[in-house]
Amino acid sequence: MQEISLNRCDKCGSEAKVHLPYGPHRLCAQHFNEFFEHRVRKTMRTNRMVKYGEKVAVGVSGGKDSMVTLHMLNKVFGETWQNRIEAIMIDEGIRGYRDKAIEIAEEYCTAHSIPYNVVSMEDELGISTEQAMRRIHEAQGSMGATCSYCGVFRRQMLNRTARETGAQKLATGHNMDDEVQSIAMNVFSGDFTRLARIGEVAGGVKSAKLVPRIKPLYETPEKDIIAYAALNGIRHYSDECCPYSWMAKRNMYRKTLNDLENAVPGTKHSILASFRKLKPALRMLESNRSSAITECAQCGEASNSGTCASCRQMEKLMEMRGNKAPIRPKILKKDGALTCSQTKSVG
Ligand SMILES: [Zn+2]
Ligand SMILES: [Zn+2]
Repeated sequence: MQEISLNRCDKCGSEAKVHLPYGPHRLCAQHFNEFFEHRVRKTMRTNRMVKYGEKVAVGVSGGKDSMVTLHMLNKVFGETWQNRIEAIMIDEGIRGYRDKAIEIAEEYCTAHSIPYNVVSMEDELGISTEQAMRRIHEAQGSMGATCSYCGVFRRQMLNRTARETGAQKLATGHNMDDEVQSIAMNVFSGDFTRLARIGEVAGGVKSAKLVPRIKPLYETPEKDIIAYAALNGIRHYSDECCPYSWMAKRNMYRKTLNDLENAVPGTKHSILASFRKLKPALRMLESNRSSAITECAQCGEASNSGTCASCRQMEKLMEMRGNKAPIRPKILKKDGALTCSQTKSVG
């Protein structure tokens, strides 16, 4: 009788290194790598993420998701395609956290000859996240929604830098878990406008100011990314979470979805598949309702109202400043006049 080993690779019978309950598969390092890379390539190909000759900017935080995205894009484009990639790191100015993560990302880029830009929030906006958090805390006694605060500025800085480097696409490290959490959060809160915008190719909105975003790891579970980074020695920052990280709602959804996945392996894949079937109808429904993308009256960046989210957020910060040193505006208004509430990257 043939012995069935629970710890052997399904493909070659050598020692299995990774167990994927949703398959179910047991794979050795080589066959897991092949499986992983094939899936990322397929995600990119079937969603027509990058066209021949396009330049792709990659938003890199130094964490596992963005480091693996950078590694995969470098691998895919380094082999056959005539595409260039360039990394963008946003330095929010959080000492002992982002500086360490950026160092890891810089090291990788240097070792693999990938051009990169580090964009400092303090230089661009006149205030770092660390300084802003202190100011917000002093003014209102709590930090508020820190991740969404930071995210507004970071998204715009990434987009602007990608555009200025001449990139046709902006890749981010969002993985399947992130996507499934966002889908569930928007379904449960009934936010169909946001729901319609989720996807492997973000948006559905077009503007010359917006570089289309792509998510090559959209169909890759977080656990697989951790395994891939470990097996391939891809260094990434994993020491601790951002000291200002505050995402109570998302963390709750993460835990609940992980519990569901453990009880019924494949649940996250099913949620994603259902969403993809619904998406064309959702986008049609929302296309009648969503407002057109115009340019922000203050900074000229893309906005779906007169003043963009970054400018509105910066105005609030300015109101909080009291008798503190003023925020240093580095930015010129669209017409060339200095504006005290805006910066080059905010919009
Ligand atoms: Zn094998
Ligand atoms: Zn603006």
